[in-house]
Amino acid sequence: MSNQNYITEMLELKDNNVIFKENYYYKENIKGITYKIFEGYLIYKPKCCYKCGVVFDDKFEKHGFINSDIKLPEVSGYKTILRLHKQRYLCKHCGKAFTNYGCFISNNTKHKIAKDLIKKRSEKDIALDNNVSPNTVERIMDSYYETQKIYKHSLPEVLSFDEFKSVKTADGAMSFHMCNGITGQTIDIIEDRRLDNLIKTSIIMTIKLEVMLNLSLLICILHIFLIKNTFNNNYHNGYIEGNNNFIKVIKRIAFGFRSFKRFKARIMICKGLIKIKKIASA
Ligand SMILES: [Zn+2]
Repeated sequence: MSNQNYITEMLELKDNNVIFKENYYYKENIKGITYKIFEGYLIYKPKCCYKCGVVFDDKFEKHGFINSDIKLPEVSGYKTILRLHKQRYLCKHCGKAFTNYGCFISNNTKHKIAKDLIKKRSEKDIALDNNVSPNTVERIMDSYYETQKIYKHSLPEVLSFDEFKSVKTADGAMSFHMCNGITGQTIDIIEDRRLDNLIKTSIIMTIKLEVMLNLSLLICILHIFLIKNTFNNNYHNGYIEGNNNFIKVIKRIAFGFRSFKRFKARIMICKGLIKIKKIASA
């Protein structure tokens, strides 16, 4: 294997157009932090002019390089940068220079951040570790996970629920958490525990309301049924207690969340209920 292949393999670079020349590796101090720097050249032939759209022909000229530092996941505990010199071209049809624009955060870093979000860690710490801003972490969360996925399963045989304090901005003072009383799996987390909101946003919707004479009657029957059943079976509230503890841990690690949407997304991600999407871009 050549040096070129080793380094592309080690850094997981999917782009075969990145070429490493001699002395491609060194350490550099940036704002008091030692970085591992890998210096490469992005040499490619564009298909067309990115400014005017004319197809590549002999009126295109190489026109120096544009340099960009691309953040990579850490290597042996060092913050790592791919210092990329991208080939620039001059299009003589429109007289403008261009380069193949790319994002400054590598796909590897994005993927690592998406995986870090599964761990019980704060977004701020994840941002710090991966050398990006907390906003970037949030953006990656949105693009790698379907954070807005709504859970509308059918009702389980046993439904456990409890309320908990979520975020300051939440619509209701208390949020609502439901889980399957037999498996312990979270069914849904709802921002506001109040009844009208529960009906609007949750799986209670899946009960065919039109066949019920009156919702309050239904709730009443449910209550009596639940109270009666509590004495007659072995179901316990262990799962819901455990789940509530889990939620509290996530909240404490993050030192609170500003938005309920993100709080819920993080709970679902950490519990493995939302998986990384196959195709993602941030
Ligand atoms: Zn052009």
